[in-house]
Amino acid sequence: MRIGIAGTGRMGAAIAGRLAGAGHDVAVWNRTAAKARPLGFPVCSSPSELAERSEAVITMLADGAAVKEVYDALLAGEVRGKLFIDMSTVRPAVSQEIFSRVKDKGAAFVECPVGGSVSPAKEGKLFGFAAGEAPDVERAKPLLEQLCRRIEHVGPAGSGASMKLAVNLPLLIYYQALGEALTLLKDTRLTAEKIMDIIGDTSGAPAMLKNRGSQIAAVLAGKAPPAVSVDVDTIRKDLREMLDEARSLGIALPVASAALERYDEASRAGLGAKDCTVLPDFFIRARPR
Ligand code: NAP
Repeated sequence: MRIGIAGTGRMGAAIAGRLAGAGHDVAVWNRTAAKARPLGFPVCSSPSELAERSEAVITMLADGAAVKEVYDALLAGEVRGKLFIDMSTVRPAVSQEIFSRVKDKGAAFVECPVGGSVSPAKEGKLFGFAAGEAPDVERAKPLLEQLCRRIEHVGPAGSGASMKLAVNLPLLIYYQALGEALTLLKDTRLTAEKIMDIIGDTSGAPAMLKNRGSQIAAVLAGKAPPAVSVDVDTIRKDLREMLDEARSLGIALPVASAALERYDEASRAGLGAKDCTVLPDFFIRARPR
């Protein structure tokens, strides 16, 4: 299938590679073309050119503002009958707006934000929270199945975005919770690696720790953080989306709110572009008294 990927950041590049490996004819567009060229795919000069040459377009962009801006250009030409899939993490209202705009152009739209990071994307092991009209989701499934170990159709446009925000909340605050937990271990003589090994084998660990525990241990032991999979600023963006969404629903999220304050502090200390595995160590170093 001729597939266009708009947004070749960490996730978009991994998705493009995975789909090309599965035999698709992949082309890309990225705001900063110079970053996309080394990937080796044909680079389109505009989103509308990408849409024109593609049967299906996947968008994987930083945030809601970027998604809205890029869809302005993607939908500028004739796109009737094409399939658009947005996998970015955005608020439900953004997905609902894009759904209406794509449908108005006679095309199909599926929102499918994902659980999992760069490695699962490369291996086709993401968890896709698909949303939209059933025939469109069915149409998107063969493609999504090449990226995801599991796909759930969670409801109409907007519900995939809500599910993604909900899934991310306990995961993102975990970095803060773990930092706080580690400050209690003042008498232990164990290495960071052993501590993370113990915690990782208990109910005090989310699934994420299986892959990330050793990276967190390395940072705690004073080593350089790993290559970025999810940076601190992306985590802050996601928490802000959750808090804005909750505010619009008249709900407070006190734990998420407190975690965001700490991560803002980490960003101000220069860690915004670092991998999020630096956060527990940051809390231990900068712990408030
Ligand atoms: P990233 O590496 O920072 O890539 C962001 C992409 O968005 C880049 O292609 C960037 O283009 C583009 N972009 C930013 N602002 C734009 C604008 N105004 N107009 C057009 N393009 C714009 O981020 P990522 O980690 O791939 O994440 C992408 C999305 O996936 C985010 O919504 C994130 O929350 C979500 N997500 C990430 C992960 C993860 O593990 N990283 C996992 C699940 C979901 P430039 O290259 O020109 O800057």
